[in-house]
Amino acid sequence: MTRSTPAPPRIAVLGSTNMDLVAYVPRAPRLGETVTGRAFRTVPGGKGANQAVAAARAGARVSMLGAVGSDDLGPRLRAALAESGVDTTLLRTADGPSGTAHIVVDDDGGNAIVVVPGANASVTGLTPEDEARIAAADALLLQLELPLDAVIAGARAARRHGVRTVLTPAPARPLPRELLALVDLLVPNEHEANALSGAADPRAAADGLLRDVPEVVVTLGAAGSLYAARGARPVTVPSRPVRAVDTTAAGDTFTGALAVALAEGRPVPDALAWASAAAALSVGRAGASSSMPYREEIDALTGGPGTA
Ligand code: AMP
Repeated sequence: MTRSTPAPPRIAVLGSTNMDLVAYVPRAPRLGETVTGRAFRTVPGGKGANQAVAAARAGARVSMLGAVGSDDLGPRLRAALAESGVDTTLLRTADGPSGTAHIVVDDDGGNAIVVVPGANASVTGLTPEDEARIAAADALLLQLELPLDAVIAGARAARRHGVRTVLTPAPARPLPRELLALVDLLVPNEHEANALSGAADPRAAADGLLRDVPEVVVTLGAAGSLYAARGARPVTVPSRPVRAVDTTAAGDTFTGALAVALAEGRPVPDALAWASAAAALSVGRAGASSSMPYREEIDALTGGPGTA
């Protein structure tokens, strides 16, 4: 008898799609000053799109919900998602420019960033098709780069249909109780956990956040991650040692892979270790979404599913 492979989990991502326009300069210009850059790159990004790519590469069937613009960046952003296997049929095309992030990186690796939401700002709610896609998913991934009304509408739809909602509270901002009450798993980094809870220590921050959400994972960069749930002992998972080349999108890689592992029903410590391996692989290579690993690479590093 052949053993049937379980169907891949379905994940919906309601979030931002941006083009990163990156200029590399010896030093950032001051206001009123012009400096000559060394190089320029365009890199598909946006926290929503990055998490979608991470989850698709990690093995899920992923639908991207949101919008690109009617400019020439729109089709490029759509194609970049599709290349990693993300379904973009419900990604809208809004009149006007796509979301862009204007990034200046200096020789010390420091950066200054202007984000212009563009088409992302037009996403203020869900279409019936969006809601149906969320209803059919095993998990919904949310971040805070779309208007809050859309984020709340997504979380409400997920709750209505019994779909697990995973929120990355980035960029950090105060969150309405109404939204937190709809979140099943909150995944802040240390800075966001501190901003939301007021506590500097990650354990204390997680404890504080558990008043509003049932499960929290605080990511701690090279120090790994901390999982906390109501009524359970917190678990710390170390990161995988790696020579850090580029930590851009490490958190989005982690969250995308974590959502896939949890949707597959893996135990939390296993899922965290697998997500840490995915993030370490992305940290060891240059690039944002382009550096995100495929499932086979994560399994090769961890010894396969279930043994992370
Ligand atoms: P962060 O968003 O920086 O907290 O990182 C998210 C996750 O990526 C962490 O929980 C780690 O698993 C992984 N990670 C980040 N930075 C490193 C690093 N320098 N070495 C290994 N893993 C890392």
